[in-house]
This record gives sequence, structure tokens and C-alpha cells, in this order.
Amino acid sequence: MYIDGEWMTGRPEFPVTNPATGEIIGQVPDCTDQDIEAAIRAADRAFKEWKTTTAYQRSQLLYRAWELMMRQKRALAELMTREQGKPLKASLNEVQYGADFLLWFAEEAKRMYGQIIPSARENQRFLVQKTPVGVVGAITPWNYPISMITRKLAPALAAGCTVILKPAESTPLCAKAMMEIFAEAGFPPGVVNLITVQNPARVGEAFCTDPRIRKLTFTGSTPVGKELNGLAAANMKRVSMELGGHAPAIVFPDADPVHAAKGLALVKFLNTGQACISPNRIFVHQDQAEPFIRELSSRASRLVAGNGMHDGTGIGPLINELAIQKVDSQVKDAVARGAKVETGGHRLTDNGLADGHFYAPTVLSGVTPAMKIYREETFGPVAPVITYRTEDDVIAMANDTEYGLAAYLYSNNMATAMRAFEALDFGIIGINDINPTSAAAPFGGMKNSGLGREGAQEGIEEYLETKLGGFAI
Ligand code: NAD
Repeated sequence: MYIDGEWMTGRPEFPVTNPATGEIIGQVPDCTDQDIEAAIRAADRAFKEWKTTTAYQRSQLLYRAWELMMRQKRALAELMTREQGKPLKASLNEVQYGADFLLWFAEEAKRMYGQIIPSARENQRFLVQKTPVGVVGAITPWNYPISMITRKLAPALAAGCTVILKPAESTPLCAKAMMEIFAEAGFPPGVVNLITVQNPARVGEAFCTDPRIRKLTFTGSTPVGKELNGLAAANMKRVSMELGGHAPAIVFPDADPVHAAKGLALVKFLNTGQACISPNRIFVHQDQAEPFIRELSSRASRLVAGNGMHDGTGIGPLINELAIQKVDSQVKDAVARGAKVETGGHRLTDNGLADGHFYAPTVLSGVTPAMKIYREETFGPVAPVITYRTEDDVIAMANDTEYGLAAYLYSNNMATAMRAFEALDFGIIGINDINPTSAAAPFGGMKNSGLGREGAQEGIEEYLETKLGGFAI
């Protein structure tokens, strides 16, 4: 833990495990109530000065943090693979994506423009200024243990807010490594703080109820997000909520089914399916089902599962035993209701995988709305394929979900793609594109997928208040 510029020791600790091997790779402090109070006090005190710094000063520190991250890219990626399990190449990509937020918001810090608004009265002028919200409580998940931190902290710090970060209990070591970077970059004591905790509810409650904290930014599951949002609302806090997803992917009849299967295999099995924007329901026109499923299954069955540190590993473990059980129960439910396992469909325990949490990359065909997998976020390496007949049918099916984060579509017809883009109720839509994300682009969901956006100009607005001055002249 890092509070007010000091590393905290002498607390009870909890272990951090490598999900590929079961090996304990580190211990981190379990915060006390006094630590939570100390972090809030430090962030509150530091805010008073930090908010008066110039955007140029804040920008310089963010640049420095970016440089340090780039210099340590490989070490950070190796740590991420050991702590979270994703293959090293995917970790390197994530470190780069995470660093992009520092660079982008180092630049955006200087563009927090206000406005001068004409008044209806001759002797009046209106001035609008943007000011930082205040102390921010940030809660991040384990699936993208570095980029979810920078996606929040970079805009918050650029805006002039101070931050207390609480990372997921399965990936605190990546958060600690990031905190070392912020410390070395020269952020003043109290501006960035880290608290680690095994049972997060106490911290969540403090973030939502303490009057010194003005904003909660949360990335995680929809049930936890709703609970925290309720508590934050009762205390009139600003919130950003990046929650669960259940992304549809639509392959239109004018698309090449083999090309679409190649793209969807890449994005579906990325991070072992543990991504909020992972395609969870794949809709293929009935006339193209056969070549599409053949290609998708062939690609899934060729993925090599294993320790992400080993060359040739194409897919890593799930994060823990509970995650394996959730995936397996969705697959069993689907099969019991008539789905066909095209490949996979079981836990992997052979070839040295027994100590980790591995599940075979799976393709299910014949999936219907009666199955749990049709409604629930999977967060695992399962690609459920559903066939459809008409454009109207598939748009209705795709929108028939409580979630609204990401969607994907494949079409070679401009008009079809544009109609679908406009008809889909999702915040992020990949059109013949499996990676519609960037520090420069607004990321976020509709419906039960959350509130607010991260990245882009919208990302810094989340940390700004609008202040109006009415001047009589
Ligand atoms: P989770 O909700 O269990 O945990 C997320 C974070 O919240 C962790 O830091 C955890 O410690 C903390 N937390 C849990 N209960 C809490 C409580 N009562 N009070 C305060 N904090 C609490 O989710 P997870 O399993 O870690 O992450 C996976 C979920 O995150 C998925 O639903 C996924 O879709 C979502 N996610 C969304 C985005 C996005 O940008 N929309 C990005 C990544 C992950």
C-alpha cells in the first residue's frame, strides 16, 4: 500500500497466486480501517495544492510516468502474465494500451477549455470554467490489471483530481508496480494512493459515503456496480460505472463467413474470453452457418492452452476455480437444452495444466434463447453460435439483453452496416473491426453496462465540474 507518499508495511498480508500454476507469487497488505482513513485524509489534503497546479505541470508528470512505463514494458508484461495469466504477447499489448492513456491525457490536460457565453443582458457576461471534481475513489478489476488503472488515473490526474486506487484482490501486484511508476515520476505525496484489501466491501462503502470523496469510478461486474451506485447516489457522489457486457456479433449474409470466423476467433478467445467486450452471442445467417462454424471450431481447437510465459501459448487460464465452474455450468446447461459442442466443452487437466484453471476453447452451435449462456455474461472461452433468418430478426435478438457495452458486425454492404450501426443499442460497435478501442476513443456502455465513458475527451469530462461565473459589468 502506498499512502501519502509512503509505502505501508507491518499489516496482516494476503497471498497473490499465479492462476496458471497455483504458485503463490507474492503477498500484499490487507488494509485496516485506519489505512482507509489515512488514504482519504492524504488525498483530501493533497487536493488543495494539486488543483492549483497548471495543466502543464500535471502533463509533465504524466509524460514522465508514460516514459517510465515504456522503459519497463517487458517487466510489467511479465508480471502481468504471472499474476493474471494472459499470454506474454497479450500482456505486452495491454501495457502499451495502458501507457497510451498516460500519453493521451498528458496532452488532453492542456485542453480543458471553458467558454464565454453571450448574455441577453447588455451589462452581463457569462464565463464557464472547468474545475477538478475533487478526491476520486477508483476501483479496478483483475482482467485488465494495468490498463484499467491508467484509463481512470490518467484523466483524473490530468484534470487535477487526487486519487485513491483500490485494485482487484487477485491482481494487486500490477497495481503496486504502477504505483512505483507514479511515485518515481514525481507525483507529490497524497496525489496518488494505493490501498490493497482482501475483502473490498469496507473500501467500497468508505468511497461511497465519506464526504471528502467526491467521485467514484468503478470497473467491474454489474451487480457490484449497481450496489455501489445506489450507495453513491444516496450521498450525491459523481460516478462512472464500467460494468458487464454481453456483446453480440452479427455476421451478415454479404460478409465472407471464413474471414468473419477468423476475426471473431481472435477477439473471442483473447484474454481467455475474460473481457467485458468479448463477443458472447455470435449470430450467423442460416445459409452461412456451416462454413462459419467449421472455421471457428478449427481455430478454437488449434489454440494451445498453457502458461502464458511459454512460447506458443495461445490461451491462458481463467482467473480462479469459481470462474471455471461458471463457464462449465453455462456449457452444461446449454448442452442439456440441446446445444451441440463443436469443440472443447470441458476443463483441461492434461499436459501439466492440472494445477491451473484451464478450460478448453469451446464452440457451441444450436444455441437458443432458452439457455443461460444466451442471457448471462460468460467471461470464459466459449463461443455460442446462433443462426438467424432476417436482418430485422437478428437486430431484435442482438438488442434483447440487459447489457449495452460492445457489439460487432461483419458486412460488405455499406448500407447494411450503417443500418445495423444505427439500430444496435450498444456504446461501442466494431464494424468489420475486432478492436474498436483506443485511448483516443470513448469507451463505455448503455443500459446495465454502465454510466459514463473512459478515454477520449469524454474521459476527462468525467473528472471535471462546470463552474459558471455571471459577471455584471
Ligand atoms: P467484481 O465486480 O467482482 O470486482 C471488480 C472490483 O470491484 C474489484 O476490485 C473488487 O475487489 C471490487 N469489489 C467487489 N465487491 C465490492 C464491494 N462490495 N465494494 C467495493 N468493491 C468491490 O468484478 P470482476 O470479476 O473483478 O471483473 C469482471 C467484471 O468486470 C465483468 O463483469 C466485466 O464485464 C467487468 N468489466 C467491465 C469493463 C468495462 O470497461 N465495462 C472492463 C473490464 C471488466
